[in-house]
Amino acid sequence: MISWPAPFIPEVPGTGHPPQLFDTSTGAVRAVNPGPTARMYVCGITPYDATHLGHAATYVTFDVLQRALRDAGHDVVYVQNITDVDDPLLERAHRDGVDWQDLAADEIALFREDMTALGVIPPDHYVGVVESIDAVAEAVRDLLASGAAYPVDTPESEAGHDLYLDVSREPGFGSVSNWSREQMMAVFADRGGDPDRAGKRDPLDPLLWRAARDGEPSWAVEGLPAGRPGWHIECTAIALDRLGMAFDVQGGGSDLIFPHHEMSATQGVLLTGERPFARTYAHQAMVGLDGAKMSKSKGNLVLVSKLRADGVDPMAIRLALLDQHYRTEWSWTPDLLTTAQDRLDSWRAALSVNAGPPVDEVVARLRSCVADDLDTPGALRAVDRWAQECQRRGGSDAGSPGVLARTLDALLGVRV
Ligand code: ZN
Repeated sequence: MISWPAPFIPEVPGTGHPPQLFDTSTGAVRAVNPGPTARMYVCGITPYDATHLGHAATYVTFDVLQRALRDAGHDVVYVQNITDVDDPLLERAHRDGVDWQDLAADEIALFREDMTALGVIPPDHYVGVVESIDAVAEAVRDLLASGAAYPVDTPESEAGHDLYLDVSREPGFGSVSNWSREQMMAVFADRGGDPDRAGKRDPLDPLLWRAARDGEPSWAVEGLPAGRPGWHIECTAIALDRLGMAFDVQGGGSDLIFPHHEMSATQGVLLTGERPFARTYAHQAMVGLDGAKMSKSKGNLVLVSKLRADGVDPMAIRLALLDQHYRTEWSWTPDLLTTAQDRLDSWRAALSVNAGPPVDEVVARLRSCVADDLDTPGALRAVDRWAQECQRRGGSDAGSPGVLARTLDALLGVRV
């Protein structure tokens, strides 16, 4: 699938520090430590509604990680999926009386526009489920052949059965989230699971392949009932296809820790006999509005496209997101946008002069902040201090504002 236009990334003198990142699986901040080419997979959208600020926070966070990896001298291969066939999309299309493919195409187009406006580097592989049916089907067949998948009777389908994963086949199940069974059971139904489905070996076993029902899209593939992929196997198949096992970072919102990332990893291990699936699992904290998590199901969304349509500078949106640490939950308020716009104005004024205070220190500080578990708020404060100094006392370092402007662009994706 086509992604979106890549922003220009300026050169910055010198080299950045090796990034450190909090890994959910081990519960510690650790060096990402990739080889010459870092391999990164960030779970993409289900295209049934427009990009809200929670999504934007996730993609901007992992965009900063990619920029930090590049600054530290790595190439990056970045994969993102699109869940372009799944229950929520089909339900929304049905509710609104539109074709599910048209709905998906419209929302993907809007997502591309939002990402372009926010200056997010596009994935090298932007992969939809619909274009990955063969890879997913092959993974499901392999799981069946090894005994890790099993049929569950489905009277409402002509095929007679859906296919589920037997999580008990992987002793390491639970090692991504480190959650207790009680914690898993508490959220499973809310996050796409079906613990009450009759005929499963374990209530937590996830759907791998859903046999065709009347009125639902389905694909005829060899060795499986006509049907469509479950959610988690899609990311396993796409990640293995494009990156292989033990890729460097799997990212997403913290609501993906369980079951999505746990199940994706379990399937990867069962398919390959190797572990780990990803070497680091990183998660963006939830963004709230009026005291509740911002989510489609709650209907309390602040949409990037709506803000843009209202004339908000996308760089102010990006700055508002960067002003929050990715691991800390926060709530959106209009004040955050005002603060971000004021900051952007002050930076623009300071960086528009021909000579300013020296920037070596602030460039070094920016680099150490982003490499330190993506401390973007710390990076912003360092630029604030320089901008204040520049406006109060000026400076005689010719070209220093230009160097800092390029550094901001390269490391934080902020174009002043
Ligand atoms: Zn995923």
